[in-house]
Formats: sequence, structure tokens, C-alpha cells
Amino acid sequence: MTDDLSFDDPADAGAAEPQAAPLLVLDRVTRAYVQGETRIEVLAGASATIESGEVVALIAPSGAGKSTLLHVAGLLERPDGGEVTLDGTATSHLSDSARTALRRNQIGFVYQFHHLLPEFSALENVVLPQLIRGLGEREARRRAEELLTYLGLGARLKHRPAELSGGEQQRVAIARAVANAPRLLLADEPTGNLDPDTASHVFTTLTALARASGLSAIVATHNLDLAATLDRRLTLRDGGLVEA
Ligand code: ADP
Repeated sequence: MTDDLSFDDPADAGAAEPQAAPLLVLDRVTRAYVQGETRIEVLAGASATIESGEVVALIAPSGAGKSTLLHVAGLLERPDGGEVTLDGTATSHLSDSARTALRRNQIGFVYQFHHLLPEFSALENVVLPQLIRGLGEREARRRAEELLTYLGLGARLKHRPAELSGGEQQRVAIARAVANAPRLLLADEPTGNLDPDTASHVFTTLTALARASGLSAIVATHNLDLAATLDRRLTLRDGGLVEA
């Protein structure tokens, strides 16, 4: 295990980075879905500020809008109104391609189901996003091995997803999500599909990795005990974000 799991992007070498700005600001975000005659205001002025390095739980009942919020915060969906500012960059008037580039470089996602590529090994699943980002293969493999070993999978590098347990699959998915050293990790019920002991282990591993890497995270979960271990808890009420 290493202390520093951050990623040395050669383009950043020598750049002095001001630390003051919050990593993510949601400012009066709105998002509605229209289905037939019905209009559902899922987000109705949701605001929150996530500081750099903060690991926050998002707790709310099913249907409250957790996934919608994570999709909007993660630049996968545009809000109807309001502003999402990521690391000082307001995103509402960016082009789709600029949003995609920002998302690729700055944001990692973990879902309830691992969505690993079944025909590739654990190692390859973590190497691939780095190659897509333009990293050389040797460095990508080194990084993938380091991350998987940190996550306790050093003896599983060559296993395919079907040869891994549910908890191991999720840990590979976590390694893949942080492979390109995002600033923000968004996890949508990452342990919702696991038995309680495994869920607890995967959750603890995920948050330890977030803290070791200094990244900010929003973790949607129904598990109040696990949520209690994070820096803050937010919930969705009437389409707004409030402290839980
Ligand atoms: P959660 O993640 O908290 O379970 P979601 O964000 O998935 O909540 O959904 C919030 C509400 O928005 C739900 O009522 C859901 O049915 C509705 N919804 C989500 N996505 C869509 C969509 N693409 N089209 C129509 N309604 C949607």
C-alpha cells in the first residue's frame, strides 16, 4: 500500500494549484421529467457545496432523486435550470464535448452493478480507461496494479469478472472509477447489491481510497450506519438538498 495514490499528470507538472475553491457547487439545480400528462419535479432548486476532499453521503428513499442528482452533478445529464460548477468551471453553457472532456478528466462513477467488461481481466478493466485517456500502457498497468493491490486484489489481477465475488467485482469497479485520478467520485448505491458484511468492507475500502487520494465523493446509500462514518450527510426533501 502506498500513501499517495494521486496520479501524476505530466501536463500538470509544476502547476501551482490554488486550493480555495470548493470542488463542486450545485446552485438551485432543477430537473423535471415529463411522462404523458404527468410532470415530476425531481430536483426543484437543489443546492450544495462539496469541498475538496470531502466525502459526503446522500441518503434518501427510492424515487427521491438520488440518481438524477448524481447524473446532473456528474455532467451526464443537463439540468433544466441552475448551475453545476466543477472545480471552478461553470458547466451550464459548455458544449457537450467540453462537458464530456471535463467528466472524463475529473469525475469517476461507481454504480450498484459493476458494469465491468466481462471478457477482460480485472487488470485490463482498470488499464483500459487510462489508455483511452492517452496514458502509455506500461504506466497504465503500473497504476492499475497499484490500485488493485491497494484494494486487496493483488492476487486477482488476471481474474475475469465472472471469476470474482460480488465484493471483488465492486472493488475492481472502484479501481476503474479512480484509475484516471478524478477529483470527484460519484457512487450510486455502490454496496446496494452486496450482503451486509461485504457491503461494509467495500464501503470502508471505497471511503479509505477516497481519503487516501484526496478526492471528493458523494456516495448514495440506504445504509445509515455506513453513512454515519462519512464527513456529512445530505438528503433530498421536496426536490431540495438539506443536511440529514
Ligand atoms: P432515486 O435514485 O432516489 O431512486 P431517481 O433519481 O432514479 O431516484 O428518480 C427520481 C424520480 O424521477 C422517480 O420518480 C423516477 O420515476 C423519475 N425518473 C427518473 N428518471 C426518469 C426518466 N428518464 N424519465 C421519467 N421519469 C424518470
